[in-house]
Amino acid sequence: MAWFRKDKSGLAQQEKKNIPEGLWTKCKSCGEVVYGKKMEELLWVCPNCDYHFRITSQRYIELLLDNGTLEEYDLTLTSQDPLKFKDSKKYPDRIKAAQLKTGKKEGGISGISSINEIKVSFAIMNFEYIGGSMGSVVGEKIARAIERAIDMELPLIIVSCSGGARMQEGILSLMQMAKHRHCLQSLPKRKFHIFLS
Ligand SMILES: [Zn+2]
Repeated sequence: MAWFRKDKSGLAQQEKKNIPEGLWTKCKSCGEVVYGKKMEELLWVCPNCDYHFRITSQRYIELLLDNGTLEEYDLTLTSQDPLKFKDSKKYPDRIKAAQLKTGKKEGGISGISSINEIKVSFAIMNFEYIGGSMGSVVGEKIARAIERAIDMELPLIIVSCSGGARMQEGILSLMQMAKHRHCLQSLPKRKFHIFLS
């Protein structure tokens, strides 16, 4: 049987070689192999099982907002290291690596944009930046996006794609949720607000 196994693996390798890399995507849920351009058309939802692939924050921005209308706010906010936290890496080193990887100072993107020419306050977490985790800066950016919606009387759109609280900032991360709850209570009810996750 050894010759048979060898043959089979050779065949599999041959087939693999015939699929140009990056053109096809395999569904993580059902294993269906779908042409990459088709996945783009389907907004990265598997046609076989409806599995939603993770897409980048940039792709969300392209899909949801009017092209080129996002005016980003709070671009200069950066995380401090209040706990002098260190696991396999020092927290400031982790921040620097994430900044290099994403070209962004922090893990949230927020600002004013429009959808079908309707002005909106928008915020999204950036999963590529330490798993989109919410530390004090991401939390503050979201709180300010809510406050802008209140002050400017705009609909609020928040896309949550986060791994959770950023452990490197401990309780300061967890406190952000209480802050958001407080801000959200002041949102005018008559406006249209969307929270995606
Ligand atoms: Zn699938």
